[in-house]
Amino acid sequence: MRDSEQGTGKRKRPRTCVGCGGEFPKNALTRIVRKPSGEVEADQTGRKPGRGVYICRKKDCVLRAKKRNLLSRSLKAPVPDRIYDTILSGLNDTETMPENDGGDVAGQD
Ligand SMILES: [Zn+2]
Repeated sequence: MRDSEQGTGKRKRPRTCVGCGGEFPKNALTRIVRKPSGEVEADQTGRKPGRGVYICRKKDCVLRAKKRNLLSRSLKAPVPDRIYDTILSGLNDTETMPENDGGDVAGQD
Protein backbone atom coordinates (compact mmCIF):
# COMPACT_ATOMS: atom_id res chain seq x y z
CA MET A 1 0.00 0.00 0.00
CA ARG A 2 1.33 3.34 -0.96
CA ASP A 3 0.17 6.19 1.17
CA SER A 4 2.55 8.99 0.57
CA GLU A 5 0.13 11.81 0.06
CA GLN A 6 1.61 14.97 1.37
CA GLY A 7 -0.66 17.32 3.20
CA THR A 8 -0.71 20.18 0.76
CA GLY A 9 -4.13 21.34 1.81
CA LYS A 10 -5.60 20.43 -1.52
CA ARG A 11 -8.36 17.94 -1.61
CA LYS A 12 -8.14 15.04 -3.94
CA ARG A 13 -10.06 15.83 -7.01
CA PRO A 14 -10.82 13.52 -9.86
CA ARG A 15 -8.98 14.22 -13.07
CA THR A 16 -10.61 14.23 -16.43
CA CYS A 17 -9.39 11.96 -19.17
CA VAL A 18 -8.82 13.81 -22.41
CA GLY A 19 -9.84 10.73 -24.35
CA CYS A 20 -13.24 9.83 -22.94
CA GLY A 21 -13.97 12.79 -20.69
CA GLY A 22 -14.48 10.48 -17.73
CA GLU A 23 -13.33 11.38 -14.26
CA PHE A 24 -10.84 9.18 -12.50
CA PRO A 25 -8.62 9.33 -9.46
CA LYS A 26 -5.21 10.57 -10.43
CA ASN A 27 -3.55 7.24 -9.92
CA ALA A 28 -5.81 5.66 -12.50
CA LEU A 29 -4.54 7.96 -15.19
CA THR A 30 -1.40 8.55 -17.11
CA ARG A 31 -0.13 12.09 -17.08
CA ILE A 32 1.32 13.68 -20.16
CA VAL A 33 3.22 16.84 -19.60
CA ARG A 34 4.39 19.66 -21.77
CA LYS A 35 7.65 20.73 -20.32
CA PRO A 36 8.63 24.38 -20.07
CA SER A 37 10.87 23.73 -23.07
CA GLY A 38 7.80 22.86 -25.11
CA GLU A 39 8.68 19.22 -25.37
CA VAL A 40 5.97 16.73 -24.57
CA GLU A 41 6.51 13.55 -22.68
CA ALA A 42 4.63 10.88 -20.81
CA ASP A 43 5.06 11.51 -17.12
CA GLN A 44 5.04 8.22 -15.29
CA THR A 45 5.72 9.86 -11.96
CA GLY A 46 3.02 12.51 -12.17
CA ARG A 47 5.41 15.04 -10.73
CA LYS A 48 7.14 16.65 -13.64
CA PRO A 49 6.83 20.37 -14.01
CA GLY A 50 4.82 21.77 -16.85
CA ARG A 51 1.31 21.70 -18.16
CA GLY A 52 -0.20 18.30 -17.72
CA VAL A 53 -3.14 16.46 -19.15
CA TYR A 54 -4.44 13.09 -18.14
CA ILE A 55 -5.58 10.06 -19.98
CA CYS A 56 -7.09 6.94 -18.51
CA ARG A 57 -5.56 3.52 -18.76
CA LYS A 58 -7.77 2.19 -21.45
CA LYS A 59 -6.20 1.24 -24.69
CA ASP A 60 -9.22 2.40 -26.63
CA CYS A 61 -8.94 5.78 -25.06
CA VAL A 62 -5.28 6.20 -25.90
CA LEU A 63 -5.87 5.08 -29.45
CA ARG A 64 -8.74 7.48 -29.82
CA ALA A 65 -6.66 10.30 -28.45
CA LYS A 66 -3.94 9.44 -30.91
CA LYS A 67 -6.31 9.30 -33.82
CA ARG A 68 -7.91 12.61 -32.96
CA ASN A 69 -4.80 14.30 -31.77
CA LEU A 70 -6.44 15.07 -28.44
CA LEU A 71 -3.28 15.39 -26.42
CA SER A 72 -1.81 17.78 -28.88
CA ARG A 73 -4.90 19.91 -28.77
CA SER A 74 -5.08 19.95 -25.00
CA LEU A 75 -1.42 20.75 -24.59
CA LYS A 76 -1.26 23.09 -27.55
CA ALA A 77 1.94 21.45 -28.59
CA PRO A 78 2.83 18.75 -31.08
CA VAL A 79 2.72 15.27 -29.58
CA PRO A 80 4.87 12.74 -31.38
CA ASP A 81 3.54 9.25 -31.95
CA ARG A 82 6.12 7.79 -29.65
CA ILE A 83 4.39 9.46 -26.74
CA TYR A 84 1.30 7.46 -27.45
CA ASP A 85 3.42 4.37 -27.86
CA THR A 86 4.95 5.03 -24.47
CA ILE A 87 1.54 5.40 -22.91
CA LEU A 88 0.31 2.22 -24.54
CA SER A 89 3.33 0.27 -23.45
CA GLY A 90 2.79 1.49 -19.93
CA LEU A 91 -0.75 0.19 -19.76
CA ASN A 92 0.06 -3.42 -19.23
CA ASP A 93 2.01 -3.32 -16.05
CA THR A 94 -0.87 -2.19 -13.88
CA GLU A 95 -3.48 -4.80 -14.64
CA THR A 96 -1.50 -7.96 -15.02
CA MET A 97 1.39 -8.19 -12.65
CA PRO A 98 3.88 -10.89 -13.50
CA GLU A 99 5.55 -12.50 -10.54
CA ASN A 100 9.06 -11.43 -11.41
CA ASP A 101 9.56 -7.77 -11.89
CA GLY A 102 12.76 -8.23 -13.71
CA GLY A 103 14.00 -4.78 -14.45
CA ASP A 104 13.77 -4.78 -18.23
CA VAL A 105 11.75 -1.63 -18.23
CA ALA A 106 12.29 0.41 -21.32
CA GLY A 107 12.38 4.13 -21.62
CA GLN A 108 14.18 5.23 -18.54
CA ASP A 109 16.18 8.36 -18.66
ZN1 LIG B 1 -10.46 7.82 -21.03
